[in-house]
Amino acid sequence: MKTAGISELINALPTDRGIARSYIGASGIGHECDANIAFASRGYPDTEISPTLSRIFREGHRLEYQIVKDIRKAGFKVLDKDIDTGKQFRYTHRDFPNHVMGNADGLIEVDGDLMLLEIKTMNDAMFKKFKKYGVQVSHKQYYAQVQMMMGLSYLDKAVLIAYCKNNSEYHDEIIEYDDAYYQYILTRIETVINNEARKISVDETDWRCRGCFKSDVCWQGVLPERECASCAHAAISNNETRWYCIKHDKEAEDPCDEYEVYHPKSRL
Ligand code: SF4
Ligand code: SF4
Repeated sequence: MKTAGISELINALPTDRGIARSYIGASGIGHECDANIAFASRGYPDTEISPTLSRIFREGHRLEYQIVKDIRKAGFKVLDKDIDTGKQFRYTHRDFPNHVMGNADGLIEVDGDLMLLEIKTMNDAMFKKFKKYGVQVSHKQYYAQVQMMMGLSYLDKAVLIAYCKNNSEYHDEIIEYDDAYYQYILTRIETVINNEARKISVDETDWRCRGCFKSDVCWQGVLPERECASCAHAAISNNETRWYCIKHDKEAEDPCDEYEVYHPKSRL
């Protein structure tokens, strides 16, 4: 069969994931590896993803808008923008507001209760798993994300609504705040803040590393931008300057000759 070559050209388009985040975010806190969270906190670049995966992510973002419309049509009040900023609601850690934060898809009122709203799109297999076992079992990263969001926002309930990309079915679950789990999240954040993060594996072929967006900086020698945030002598600071230089005992702003690239501790 003859093709116009359009799909071939689209398939080959470069991916664009935008600028890598440089903070400890709720959406990444469920990653099993502390080193991954440490790399993210310092703005290390992500490993390039395939055009297909890039489009899957784009579709997920595009669908969110439609999903909010459907929830509203079903009669629920949803606030998807903070009226002060015109953007998503952002919740931050009281002591490290520039370094520890999460953005909410929205707030929703259910039976008079205000809850966080988290929207996810899933393929059929993941959707079925979510329906059968609940999010804590089916999607540990999403569970950690909403627990961190509830901890930061002081809200005690969240609704996770999932949309199946195969058949457009919806399923939702109310998740209660679990303080013990939030304290566990805070200990992981503390590990990263204290520059104690370790790699989860000594082997780059470990399945967790193969699926990790920081594998190139972790194992392949890809370097971050040369700035204080990526320097081994920098530590997270709780003021406006963001980074503190341990070597010079002062706020870190511009990289100096003593720059050394940060790397997390080895697993061993
Ligand atoms: S590649 Fe592996 S060790 Fe490195 S950050 Fe990712 S999961 Fe952790
Ligand atoms: S001032 Fe120099 S040593 Fe200190 S954090 Fe920045 S690059 Fe590193």
